[in-house]
Amino acid sequence: MNCPKCKQPLIDSTLSTALAVKHCTNCQGSWIPAVEYQAWVSQEPQKSLSPELFSELLNNIDVVPSPFDSKAALCPECHHYLARAKVSMKNPFYVERCPSCTGVWCDEGEWNMLEKLGLSTTIEQLFSSGWQARMREQLHAYQERQAVVDKVGPELAAQLFQLASVLEKHPNGDFAAAYLMRRFDRTYV
Ligand SMILES: [Zn+2]
Ligand SMILES: [Zn+2]
Repeated sequence: MNCPKCKQPLIDSTLSTALAVKHCTNCQGSWIPAVEYQAWVSQEPQKSLSPELFSELLNNIDVVPSPFDSKAALCPECHHYLARAKVSMKNPFYVERCPSCTGVWCDEGEWNMLEKLGLSTTIEQLFSSGWQARMREQLHAYQERQAVVDKVGPELAAQLFQLASVLEKHPNGDFAAAYLMRRFDRTYV
């Protein structure tokens, strides 16, 4: 079996705790055969991060995508074109997956990133449009909060977020929010 990116022969290797993969010693990418992945996932605890922590990681971890990341590739097992799923970070990267045999290709460093983000056990979700939409929403919410922190400082921002979540849960929270809005309308007149 040859590397889908640089065509060198792949060698037997392992990722994390005993996930058997085919590794390329030239470009440092790894092919994760579907059977191996499924066997590994079934005995791994499912990790999932809180939306806040996840968005923070997406925004703040710096990855340098492998130069091979942008290269289109064929499945080393069944030769279909690998589908690409974007992980939207400061420097986005793409995870690739064969639509036919569901094997996964990770360029150098990508598997470690997936582990950090709590996504290594749920790679297939990256390829669903619903998940991609949720990831965009979370990023947007995070950026919105950051903008508030930048404008009013972390202390007041923390108070504001706390008040906002109290009001969200209160049956007449919208009434209280409208009161605040009116206070500011008056100031600007
Ligand atoms: Zn390679
Ligand atoms: Zn395939």
